[in-house]
Amino acid sequence: MSLLVVGTVAFDAIETPFGKTDKIVGGAATYICWAAQHFVDKINLVSVVGDDFPLSEIAELQNRGMRTDGLQIKKGEKSFFWSGRYHMDMNTRDTLATELNVLADFDPVVPESYLDSEFVMLGNLTPQIQIRVLEQLPVRPKLVVMDTMNFWMNTERDSLDRVLRMVDVLTINDEEARQLSGEYSLVKAARKILTMGPKYLVMKKGEHGALLFYENQVFFAPALPLEDVYDPTGAGDCFAGGFIGHLAHTRDISFDNMKRGIIYGSVLASFCCEKFGIERLKQITMKDIHERVEEVVDLVQFDISLVD
Ligand code: AMP
Repeated sequence: MSLLVVGTVAFDAIETPFGKTDKIVGGAATYICWAAQHFVDKINLVSVVGDDFPLSEIAELQNRGMRTDGLQIKKGEKSFFWSGRYHMDMNTRDTLATELNVLADFDPVVPESYLDSEFVMLGNLTPQIQIRVLEQLPVRPKLVVMDTMNFWMNTERDSLDRVLRMVDVLTINDEEARQLSGEYSLVKAARKILTMGPKYLVMKKGEHGALLFYENQVFFAPALPLEDVYDPTGAGDCFAGGFIGHLAHTRDISFDNMKRGIIYGSVLASFCCEKFGIERLKQITMKDIHERVEEVVDLVQFDISLVD
C-alpha cells in the first residue's frame, strides 16, 4: 500500500506573539509527509523546489523511507516562499507574502514507480497541478483527499471547482468553508460543499477541533488543549497527514474509520504546534501518538444517566 503526496515544499517565515523565525523549511507536502510517515511505509512525494533548498532536508525524508523521485529540483530558481503573522488568539493569521517562484510554472511528473499509489493526498497548491497529478494516474486511486485554501479560491476558482469534482474528501478550515460555499452557517456550508464533488468534508476549526460531515451525519474530534502553542503553521497539513495516514495504514475508508482518522489528525496537529516548523514532528514516535490518542479519548468520554 502506498500514499502519493503532492503539495508545496517550501520556505516559511513565521511571526507569532511568542517569537519570529527567519526562513525555515515548511510547505504543505513537507508537513503531510512528516505526519503520514508514522503510519505509511511507502510515501511518494511529488513537488518542486529551487536549488536554494537544503539537500540535507531531502535526505532526511529519504532516510525515513519517503520516495523523492517526483521532487523536481530547479537549477537557478527559488523555492516557494510563504510568510505569515499570527494574531494573539493563534487561531487566525495574516499572510504577509506568497512568492510562487518555482511553483509558477511547475509541471508535475508522476514517476512510473508511483503509478500504483492507492491513496492520494492532494496537499495545498495550485488546483491545476492537483488535476495534472490525478490525470497521470492510470487507475482511480482507492481514496483521494484534497486540501486547499482561500488563496486558490481567490485566484483559481474555475480549476478549483474542477478538482473538487475529482476527489472523495475535502479538508478545509471553517473560514474557507464559508468562502467556498457563500454560507455563514457551517452546517449549510457543509451541505453545499458536499454537492460540489467530495462525499466527505473535514472542516478544521483550529483549537476548537474538527468536524467530519458525510451525508446527513456529522462527527466531532476535539483538539487537545495544549499548554503552549508555539506555531500552528502546518497544523492543518499534519491533520491531513495523520488522517490519510491512518486510512492508508488500515486500508479502510469507511465513515467509522474516518472518525478514527480525524482523531489521529487532531493528535498529529497538536504535536505540530508545539515547536516551530517540522521540529517536533521529527522527534515523536508512534508511542507518543498513541498516548495522545488516549488523552483525546479521556477528554470526551463520560457517563451519563438520564433522569426524568
Ligand atoms: P497550514 O498552516 O496547514 O495552512 O499550512 C501552512 C503551510 O502551507 C506553510 O508551510 C506554507 O508554506 C504552505 N502554504 C502557504 N500558502 C500556500 C499556498 N497558497 N499554496 C500552497 N502552500 C501554501
